[in-house]
Amino acid sequence: MQHKRSIVQTLLAVLLLLTVFGHPAAGRTVRTVKWKLAETWPSTLTPLASPPAQVAKMVKEMSGGKFIIRVEGKEKHKAPLAVLDMVKGGQYQMGHSSSYYWKGKDINTVFFTTLPFGMTTAEQYAWFYYGDGMQYMQQVYDRFKVLCYPGGNTGVQMGGWFKKEINSLDDLKGLKMRIPGLAGEVFARLGVNVTNIPAGELYTSLDRGTIDALEWVGPGMDMKMGFHKVAPYYYTGWHEPASEMQFLINKRAYKKLSPEFQAMLQTAMKAAAADMYYENFAASADAWDKMKADYPDIKVKTFPGPVLKAMKKATDEVLAGYAAANPLFQELLASQRAFMDKARQWTIISDYNYLKTSMELEQ
Ligand code: CA
Repeated sequence: MQHKRSIVQTLLAVLLLLTVFGHPAAGRTVRTVKWKLAETWPSTLTPLASPPAQVAKMVKEMSGGKFIIRVEGKEKHKAPLAVLDMVKGGQYQMGHSSSYYWKGKDINTVFFTTLPFGMTTAEQYAWFYYGDGMQYMQQVYDRFKVLCYPGGNTGVQMGGWFKKEINSLDDLKGLKMRIPGLAGEVFARLGVNVTNIPAGELYTSLDRGTIDALEWVGPGMDMKMGFHKVAPYYYTGWHEPASEMQFLINKRAYKKLSPEFQAMLQTAMKAAAADMYYENFAASADAWDKMKADYPDIKVKTFPGPVLKAMKKATDEVLAGYAAANPLFQELLASQRAFMDKARQWTIISDYNYLKTSMELEQ
């Protein structure tokens, strides 16, 4: 009897040990972690606002409600271009934004959004995850004491809406256009009068002729802005071939997370970033279909060869100018170019040839 009792006791002890040590989180109380995330966009501006919302949902579910991220849009914090500072300062543990907004703080941040005539989305993700991209991104963001991760991609952005057709370089001279970032610098070199206008005033500015042209994203996001109602020429892209969003994380806050919560966050960010690309692709396919049916006069155009050649030359000059003054810029440019040279050969053999062959069959 005593012997039997001891077997039962041993089994119970083993079960207890398994319960305690069998799962890393078991046997200790998991403290609920509450974080805040500031995004540059209004919280309703999908697909840009989708990755933070998805990350919050995923970590909540994966942690059984123990890791909570409250997402605050631009409408709440009213400081869309202070997201990096707010994450650095710790007012927010996380941020969601776009790297090229920090161009004024450090020009090297531009590489982690997109470059004019740069890589496609697939090429750029390969550089981030399987090339030197992530390592360089962290090197650049170390000075801000934040961790930085890819946060969703728009794919190729359209070259913008123009009220008049662009037939030659002369048509660009004196043209008033909203186009930010490096592409704005390139257009300025070609004689364009580059302006930056808040998003809320863009439609009226284009409609009233305050500006002659603007670029935004692609059909999915452009349609909501209504640009197709006031400018008939829709130019194909060259300046933002793969615009990547970014997740920013305060380093100290991240170090305080348990390894399990860190793993949940990493998994959620990567999944949410990929999903934004799919969401935007679907939205653009859908929007273009509707635009074409409702506004049959919209003309999709590609800039003429000499204009594109001048844009490419000006892009190379702008990049060479920064590289001459900044060794890390030069190193990053070399890294992207070397990766792109290799990756592009495969893109041409695979995607490009497949599309070309399929299109020829339709003719
Ligand atoms: Ca854009």
